[in-house]
Formats: sequence, structure tokens, C-alpha cells
Amino acid sequence: MLAARLTGPKHLELIETEDPVADGQSVIIKVKTCGICGSDLHYWETGLDMCGKTGLIMGHEFCGTVVENGSRIDLRPGDRVTALPLDPCGICGPCRKGLVNLCTRGMKRSIPGNNSQGAFAQYLKLRPDMVRILPDTISENEAAMIEPAAVALHAVRQASSGIGDRVLITGGGTIGLLCAAWARIAGASYIALSEINKGRRVFARELSYVDEVFDAGDPGVVSAMKKAVKSGFDIAIDTSASDAGINTTISALKSKGRLVLAGISFHPQSIFTLLIVVREIEMKTSLGYIPEEFDLALESIASKTLHVGNLINKTIPIEDLQKAFENLASGVSCDVKIILEVT
Ligand SMILES: [Zn+2]
Ligand SMILES: [Zn+2]
Repeated sequence: MLAARLTGPKHLELIETEDPVADGQSVIIKVKTCGICGSDLHYWETGLDMCGKTGLIMGHEFCGTVVENGSRIDLRPGDRVTALPLDPCGICGPCRKGLVNLCTRGMKRSIPGNNSQGAFAQYLKLRPDMVRILPDTISENEAAMIEPAAVALHAVRQASSGIGDRVLITGGGTIGLLCAAWARIAGASYIALSEINKGRRVFARELSYVDEVFDAGDPGVVSAMKKAVKSGFDIAIDTSASDAGINTTISALKSKGRLVLAGISFHPQSIFTLLIVVREIEMKTSLGYIPEEFDLALESIASKTLHVGNLINKTIPIEDLQKAFENLASGVSCDVKIILEVT
């Protein structure tokens, strides 16, 4: 089969590799679509997978059609499916509590597109209990948005965002915008977004669930926010994982406001903790999602409660993948979500 392999920093190579082999248990799918995620960009920059190894075939936001149903007797060849790109051990402390996103053996398990073969390929082998059937009302492009929608849902739940809340989101990428969409569904009365990239600011302004967009690069951004929300925001979700983004949230929150760190930074960060302490800001973090949230994201997209189609800027063939990564990494691209279409 054809696949795109990460062969070094900023270098994807199209290769011919062996098709996955049926083992009577795993579900094998023919991949149809797969989104490019922020974590994929990080792997691309470093040339290394989640465990620091080379040669990863990325892609964890996918859908496809069943080729081999393995142990899933409810599936037939040709059925449209997606899957949670997870492999929880089921026996560690967090797994036993249902918190599979925090599985302590995660790094040693096989996580598609992160440390084992992902969906930037024609075929993909999946753990049977992670596979989900797609309803007819969900398109193949929308199906590639279920995974990031689950990530955003978990962040909004961690924030306990509810009716009437004034919410600030820093970072206008896919996760930031999907956090805004979920916060609106949860009943937020005002949703502000701050983003450094001008093209992305223009894009976010078009979305019905973002009330106001601020320039994260403006030195007066916090004063501008305070003019809009006088007593400060109830909730902030940082998806930028930047010092500036996090410090903006801390400055713009009200006393006792809630901050959720939903971005991943691989370096120590410089955060102004004084404001967190003197305002007793509650800080939480968010990592991935639990299966219930993945399923709710799937159902919400299928029922058109959560609209994700408008976040997709373009679809590309596998031959254009390297170019798409260069574009997304440029820092000036207006694109939020690019979807790979595999034929
Ligand atoms: Zn992702
Ligand atoms: Zn576990």
C-alpha cells in the first residue's frame, strides 16, 4: 500500500509498504479521510514519534471503510467507520476508573498515528473495541473532525463551562475553535477568541459561535478584553500553549475564574503566577478525551448539533501532504484544518 512516512525532521516520504495482515481480531479499514493535527505538526518538525523514534506513519483523525471485520461480528465489509486512536491497558489505576486518557502505560501501548502506524496510508489496522460505526448523516470529511471535537469537548468539560459564562479562548486553531463551539452549546453568553495569526482571526470572525476576536499580538490585548468584559472572564481555555497566551488568560480572568490548559508545550513555560494566587484562579489541565466524549462528539456532529464542516479549509491528496505541512508550519497560513483524502 501507499503511505506517507516521516523519514526525518520536516520530511515526509511517500513509500510502498506492506498492507496490514488480518489476525482474526483486529478490524482493517481502507482509509478514506484523515485530518492533519497540531500534534502531527510537532512530529513533522522533529521527525520523531511520541516515543522519540523515527519512521512514523502519522494520522489519527480518520475514517474509512471496513475491509476485515476481525472480531467485530456487527461489522460488514464496506461499512463506514472511525475509531478512537487509543489503546488503553484497561488494568492501570486511571483505566479502572474509566480515565483511559490518563492510562499510565500509554507510552508503551500502540497508539495509531502517534507511535504506531496511522492513517496517512491506504489501509489501517484497528483495535476492535475502539471502532465506531458512522451514521449516514455524517460525511467522510466531518468524520475526520470527530477526534479533535472530542479533544475540545473534554477541555470544555474540564472548564465546567455552562449557561451564561463568559469564555475566553486563546489560540484560534482547530481545538480553540471547537472549544468555542462546545462552549456555545453549553450555554456561554459571550465567547472571545485571541489569535496571533491575522488570517485565522479573519476566519474566526466568520463563525457564529465566536462573538469577538482579539489580536493576541497587540500589547493592549488585555485592556481591550477588559473593556469588553468589565469584571473579567468566568472561564478561559488556553489552546496556544504559549507563555503569552497563558498570561493573557490569567490577566483577563475574574477572581475565582477557571483556567484550563489544553495546549501541549514541550518546554518549561514562564507564567505570571502572582495573578493566579491573588485572584485564586482555579487551574486545571485537559488531555485527550474518554470514550464517552468521543461518542458524544460523533453523535453531535451526526445530528448537526455541532457544526464542523466550516472549519475544513481544503482537502488534499497524499502526494500534497509534505506541501500541506510546510504551509501549516509557516505560521502565516490561514488554514485551520486540512484533510487528507486517501484513494
Ligand atoms: Zn488530533
Ligand atoms: Zn491503563
